Order: sequence, then structure tokens, then C-alpha cells
Amino acid sequence: AKESGRNNYQFFTTELNTRAQHRYTLETNLRRALTEQEFLVYYQPKISLQTSRIVGAEALIRWQMPGQGLIPPNEFIPISEEIGLILPIGRWVLEQVCYQTKYWRDNLVPDLVVSVNISPRQFQDVTLCDFIAATLQESGLPPSALQLEITEGLLMGEIDRLLPMFNAIKALGVSISLDDFGTGFSSLSYLQRFPIDNLKIDRSFISKIPENQDSVVLTHAIIAMANALGMSITAEGVENAEQMFFLTDSGCQEMQGYYFSKPLPVEQFEKLLKNNRQQ
Ligand code: C2E
Ligand code: CA
Ligand code: CA
Ligand code: CA
Repeated sequence: AKESGRNNYQFFTTELNTRAQHRYTLETNLRRALTEQEFLVYYQPKISLQTSRIVGAEALIRWQMPGQGLIPPNEFIPISEEIGLILPIGRWVLEQVCYQTKYWRDNLVPDLVVSVNISPRQFQDVTLCDFIAATLQESGLPPSALQLEITEGLLMGEIDRLLPMFNAIKALGVSISLDDFGTGFSSLSYLQRFPIDNLKIDRSFISKIPENQDSVVLTHAIIAMANALGMSITAEGVENAEQMFFLTDSGCQEMQGYYFSKPLPVEQFEKLLKNNRQQ
């Protein structure tokens, strides 16, 4: 028993060391990724359910580490948030999106709106709004072409500090979308207190439509509530025609999901925009 106890201990310390080592390597690589420009922005189209045309996109970051293939955001965004690297990464994404969207609006789709995911950590940066204003100005992108996607968790923070930031962003003309709606614990009263323009219904509801009666009822209710409060609705994770028809019938405005397209690199998304225009 004594013997196996020691073996366990050795096993755990080795395991911990390996993990610490792995994490240290990841952190070092992440810092280098930023200076070496290893990040990419992918774009997933958002489709109008009324016109079936591309009306927007969500910008989603990827990491192309040399010799490692494409690393998805869930594998590096949480750590970037912990070590504060999300601040420069978030700024980089905003810059890319503003210049790219300006180009697409000038050349392909004049009313294209692109959304960017903003971590709660970025709202601790008091210069966030100034940075957005400066980037819009420098890129020439109209503020109405930019949308920020935030999560419910953020709204549970200090309202006295957050509300002025939200109002400043709104005053620029940038819109705000509440992402993953329905998965958090936020009270519905937040929807009244914060200036929110759009609700994104989480994929976990959409994926169970139409089999799961609870998801059907909840999705109906969320759409009705959002419309009554003057907010538009985007459904995420739409994977089949049945879900699309259900959403259209329910009064949902926009959809996003693999049924229409996965997130795409710049050149491929641009091809979709060109086809969209020729339709
Ligand atoms: P999210 O904001 O909820 O983004 C939607 C995720 O669902 C994306 O995963 C997208 O590829 C995936 N998705 C879209 N349609 C479908 C579908 O029909 N079926 C399925 N199964 N999945 C679908 P992705 O790109 O791996 O991003 C994961 C998360 O990483 C995002 O979740 C977001 O929270 C975060 N993220 C991505 N880019 C950024 C960024 O630039 N900044 C920050 N702060 N977070 C980001
Ligand atoms: Ca999002
Ligand atoms: Ca989402
Ligand atoms: Ca989600």
C-alpha cells in the first residue's frame, strides 16, 4: 500500500509538471503568435430569413501555428483571457474586421454588418470605446456596420461601471448583440436596463428543433419577447432546412449555421459575397 501510494504521488507530480509545462509552452507560443501574425479571422455568413441573402457575418478567430494546423478559439481564448493577452488579440481582431468590412462594403455588399466577439475582460479596459472609435475612424467603416457580441455573464458585473461603456458604444452608432442567449443566468430585467439591439438564440435550443417540445416553445417565446422589446433575433447553429423553416415561421430575422455555411477564410467568404450579389 505504501509502495503504491508513492507511485500515485509520483504519477500526480509528473502529471502536474507536464501540464504546467504544456501551459507554459502554450503561453509562450501565444505571445509569439501575436507578433508573428499567426492569427486569422474567419467569417461565418448571417442570412436574412426574409430575403435569403447574406446580410452580415460573425468574425471568428483562428490560430495558424506553423506545423500545427488550425487551432480553434476554444483552445486558446480562455487562456488568453486569463493572462490578459485577450486585450491585444481583441484589438487586432477589431482592426482586421473594420478594414476588411470597409473593403467588402465598398466593393461587394454596401450594407454588410460584421459582428465581433468581445470578452468580458475587454470591458475592464476603460479605453475600449476610444479604441473602437479610433479604429472606425481610421478604417473609414461606418459605425452601423459594426456589431459587438457580448455574453450574458458580462451583464452580471457592475452595472454602474458597464452601463456608461454600453451607452458610449451605442452613442458611436455601433450595435450590441447578446450572444448565447438562454444559456446564462442573467435576469430578463437586464434586457431592459442595457441597450441591446439583437439577441442570438444559443445553438443548444436550435439543435433540438423540432423534436424537443421545450426547445420549440422556448424559441417561440424568446423570439416573441425580443420582437416585442424591439430587438432583432439571430438564430445560431442552424444545421438543416427544417430548423430554417421553423425560424422563418416564428418571426426570426436572421440565421447563421452550417446549413448555409461554416466559418470561412477571407477569400472563400468573398466568393460567397460575389455570388450573393449576382443572384
Ligand atoms: P460563439 O461566439 O458562440 O461562436 C459560434 C461558434 O459556433 C463558432 O465556433 C462557430 O464555428 C460554431 N458554429 C457555427 N455554426 C454552427 C453550426 O451550425 N453547428 C455547430 N455545431 N457549430 C456551429 P468557433 O469558431 O470554434 O468559436 C468558438 C468560440 O470562441 C465562440 O463561440 C466565441 O465565444 C469564441 N471566439 C471566437 N472568436 C473570438 C474572438 O475573436 N474573440 C473572442 N473574445 N472570442 C472569440
Ligand atoms: Ca458569438
Ligand atoms: Ca454564440
Ligand atoms: Ca453558442
